[in-house]
Amino acid sequence: MAQQAEAGKSRVKMLRRNTLLGNNATGGKRKNKTRVFRFISQQGRTSKLEIVSRLGISLPTVLQTLKELTEDGLIWEMGEFESTGGRKAKALAAVRGSRFAMGLDITRNHISLVAADLSGRIQRHIRIPKTFARSPAYGEFLAGLISRYRTEWRIPVDRFLGVGISVPGIIDAQGRMIQDSHALGVRKMPCDELSKGIEYPCVFMNDANAAGFAELRESSDMENAVYLSLSNSVGGAFLQGSRLYLGEHQRSGEFGHMTLYPGGRECYCGKRGCLDAYCSAQRLSSLTEGKLDRFFEKLRQGDKECAQAWAGYQADLVTAANSLHMAFDCDVILGGYVGGYLEDWIGALRELAEERNPFDDGGTYLKVCRYRVEASALGAALQHVERFIEGL
Ligand SMILES: [Zn+2]
Repeated sequence: MAQQAEAGKSRVKMLRRNTLLGNNATGGKRKNKTRVFRFISQQGRTSKLEIVSRLGISLPTVLQTLKELTEDGLIWEMGEFESTGGRKAKALAAVRGSRFAMGLDITRNHISLVAADLSGRIQRHIRIPKTFARSPAYGEFLAGLISRYRTEWRIPVDRFLGVGISVPGIIDAQGRMIQDSHALGVRKMPCDELSKGIEYPCVFMNDANAAGFAELRESSDMENAVYLSLSNSVGGAFLQGSRLYLGEHQRSGEFGHMTLYPGGRECYCGKRGCLDAYCSAQRLSSLTEGKLDRFFEKLRQGDKECAQAWAGYQADLVTAANSLHMAFDCDVILGGYVGGYLEDWIGALRELAEERNPFDDGGTYLKVCRYRVEASALGAALQHVERFIEGL
């Protein structure tokens, strides 16, 4: 048991090294296998010759790699392409459901659970109300949840890679300790307290880092991005070359505590004028009994009080987004609870952003997130998916 726990710990450590921080120490052959599998998975359907030409790998190497991936049960021939004269090319595709990972996102009052396959997309998800408590019972509840939904969602144990757990707090460099979580009201809490009942490999991640990771992975045209999470607290992530930059103290992306107005409103951190005090979802939802969907509904109906609050919120949000854009020179993805409602307002936000931008890229760097509430759970699950693909 102790040995198992030790193995689990080193696995968590390895996961962090390999997926978050990058590991290029794989041999050429293994790298080809990873590249070919990723390509097939991203394309949906492809052919041998397309792989050869797009990835610039020789035909014999591609043939050998395809043989191995087929033997591993990861790809299959799904019919043929229409002939353009001559022999019809075989269509290759990733086997759906060859492996799965689950992601748990823990918040103060809810738990989100997702299952993702190797495509990295959400296959199943559920969100349930559950108040967090630092207690063995809560840990047992999580273990029960994983076990129940693994069975209900028909994920075979031999195809199950593990569980990623997203937490609204700062996780230490080893991924073993929740250093500080204002949302959960805990400090120096060993991650093991949450995961010890879970009988599969677990990896822990900060929620905004996880969400940023999930968002960027879906964007084939983006390598660098800032993710700004606008939930009941404000946080974020910075991704460079599709990898998270965690910072010297794992506190990179704590955008909520950038000072927006010196001496301004009080922040929960005890300081004044932090972005969090101006751009948390609560600034909006406090006008509609804590219900953010109701706020945006009233805003659409032309409610004056909501319109006024929204104008102030937009101005503050754009000030922060402009600073982030100036600091990092990349897209800024607006996510979190508020991000999920911004589709209709992104045009107006971009206009405001353009007014502040001294360069000629206007406000187009502002992007709306893809996922509404599942991004963090998905990003945590993806750590297992990425590790598996990188390890091919
Ligand atoms: Zn603060």
